[in-house]
Amino acid sequence: MDETLLMIPGPTRVAPRVLKAMSENVVNHRSAIFGKILNETTQMMSDVFRTNNKSYLITGSGTAAMEAAMANILNPGDKVLHVVGGKFGQRFSQIVEAFGGQTKIIDVEWGQAVNPDEIGFALEEDEDIKAVTVVHNETSTGVANPIKEIGKIMSDYDALYVVDTVSSLGGDEVDVDGYGIDICVTGSQKCLAAPPGMAAITLSNDAWKVVDKVDAQSYYLNMKKYRKSGNAEPPETPYTPSVSLMYAMHEALTVIMEEGLNNRIKRHHLAAKATRNAIKALNLELFPKEEVSSATVTAIKMPEGVSDGELRGTMRNKYRVELAGGQDHLKGNIFRVGHMGNITHRELITTVAALEMTLKELGFDIAIGEGVAAVADTYLPDDI
Ligand code: PLP
Repeated sequence: MDETLLMIPGPTRVAPRVLKAMSENVVNHRSAIFGKILNETTQMMSDVFRTNNKSYLITGSGTAAMEAAMANILNPGDKVLHVVGGKFGQRFSQIVEAFGGQTKIIDVEWGQAVNPDEIGFALEEDEDIKAVTVVHNETSTGVANPIKEIGKIMSDYDALYVVDTVSSLGGDEVDVDGYGIDICVTGSQKCLAAPPGMAAITLSNDAWKVVDKVDAQSYYLNMKKYRKSGNAEPPETPYTPSVSLMYAMHEALTVIMEEGLNNRIKRHHLAAKATRNAIKALNLELFPKEEVSSATVTAIKMPEGVSDGELRGTMRNKYRVELAGGQDHLKGNIFRVGHMGNITHRELITTVAALEMTLKELGFDIAIGEGVAAVADTYLPDDI
């Protein structure tokens, strides 16, 4: 069993009680006993989405839910506006292209957040835009987009508001009903701290009205089928779900309810702040500006004279801490520390200490202990 500390932006370490839940024997997925588990899991999912609408669990990764969102609202030729400031914003547009939709892009420099007014301008200019996609937490750049403010602008328009919260739900503020989000998607393996392989989606009444007018462009991800099965007594999924992963999701969401969603979000923000403070104390440079920095993943510029292979290789092989690299044109230029799911000061202190040792060993002029002290200072109460 590999005990490397995962400090990547998903998958994240899974609590033993969640792993244990998965070891329960498989039951008939069309039975009262499974229906109860599904019902409770989808209810907790809606609570975490902060919506009164139903949620649906899809056996598949986060991308399956992104694809479900698009496949159910678009006829070929329909137009979608995408905020693209990183890899996952791009993914939404590629999905729409795959379904024969027209894409309109708001290009945001990687490392920056979108200005919500730009979305308003684009919608004002083009009445044919059927939906707008925004990635809340752009995992590839460590930027959090202002989904609340965008929601206010979206409320003046008919276009559906589609938000990817794959790497933020359960770790940062997401209020599906409060922000007027029409379709929200997420994945199991990030802030929810369940194993990979389960995705979730929730749709507003406005979104369902559109879904009902469209022939879904997918068989497996046809949301009308998920709704019909979900409304059955006992509730089901249309096709055989990963029963074991459903147990894991049930347990992981129970853990979130016990911690309290607000407490959990605060814990993530504190971990993000501690990480940023450590990086600054070590005279390293954050990739995005602090004001737009993610609560769940911190992107850091690669220090001059140190290669990605050396830095992350030493962290992994010598200190058994796994960090993430940059993606696409950011490969080699940044590295990323994920602090999502169950991460506390314990993991951060270990990570920052390992980073200090790694940098020192690679010849970087580092004051050992300053990063760790910054983490400790962040966690200590103000009056100490
Ligand atoms: N959206 C965001 C913001 C992500 O971070 C990811 C995964 O890293 C995805 C979508 C895709 O999720 P998955 O890899 O589970 O398909």
